[in-house]
Amino acid sequence: MTLPILYIVIPCYNEQEVLPITSKLFSDKILQLTNQGKISPNSKVLFVNDGSKDSTWQVICGLCNENPVFQGVCLSRNRGHQNALLAGLMTARRYADVTISIDCDGQDDINAMDKMLDEYTDGCDVVYGVRSKRETDTWFKRTTAEGFYKVMKSLGADVVFNHADYRLMSRRALDGLASFHEVNLFLRGLVPLVGYHYSSVYYERAERIAGESHYPLKKMLSFAFDGITSLSIKPIRIITGLGFFISLCSILGIVWVLATKLFGLTVSGWTSMLCAIFFMGGVQLLCLGVIGEYIGKIYNETKRRPRFIIKETTFEEEHHTNDYE
Ligand code: UDP
Ligand code: MG
Repeated sequence: MTLPILYIVIPCYNEQEVLPITSKLFSDKILQLTNQGKISPNSKVLFVNDGSKDSTWQVICGLCNENPVFQGVCLSRNRGHQNALLAGLMTARRYADVTISIDCDGQDDINAMDKMLDEYTDGCDVVYGVRSKRETDTWFKRTTAEGFYKVMKSLGADVVFNHADYRLMSRRALDGLASFHEVNLFLRGLVPLVGYHYSSVYYERAERIAGESHYPLKKMLSFAFDGITSLSIKPIRIITGLGFFISLCSILGIVWVLATKLFGLTVSGWTSMLCAIFFMGGVQLLCLGVIGEYIGKIYNETKRRPRFIIKETTFEEEHHTNDYE
């Protein structure tokens, strides 16, 4: 049996403080797995520089010069975590039998990779890294994040609870992922749609080794909202239901108004009228907003803009892996 080539894919954005520390962890892991005869000696650590504004790319190039286990891909500009990760996975797909994606900040337990690979050897194409505890996260981050997974589930989007983007994917699963062309990328919702045999590995999430999170509350909320609207059309259904309910209520209201008029009691009415106008105005605007969100998504999808463009790589390539190939 030939040993599988593993690529660890790591998106990096402004991580110059973190990389010198965590890169060592990744290369040690490759070395350990190679020595144990679990992976091929051609396995690599692939960094994707997501248009960092600091010297992250210089750090990556330095690492690649020192140790051939490291490789780097540089995007033409900042495209966000999901696109950077996709760029890395699509590049790795051409060389690797199996990939593991992980953040570069050391928050995800790197030792879970051993178990992930065991699951892969046992025939899984996708292995999700799931956070068993989130004690190091603040109470706020924990509750909002867990609330998010619950809302997603109830809206019918198939996401794995407490799983972020730490996951193993086989080449076959990546080929499947490559055939999804959506621009509104939400990988943790897409991977379950790819299918194949999967399992989960549990680990404890640690604190960031250095630097700061790129996901403050505002970005987290918009990420959650994007995730929901790109995976589920339930909000539109809820609006339809709401519209139906309100129409029903207004029919009852009209009956009541006519009855009042019949009995000649049409004196006041100013308050109730204003209430209805305000309420309906608000509900309509809200509904328009939600529908508009979907139209915006359709607008972005129809343009089919590339999700990433690779500027340079630290290794020889026949041609850069660009999007839509
Ligand atoms: N990241 C990226 N592009 C961005 C923002 C973040 O590639 O525009 C990377 C970042 O370098 C890190 C990962 O995505 O490896 C997760 O980011 P972070 O640790 O800030 O998020 P958190 O773990 O706090 O949710
Ligand atoms: Mg992090």
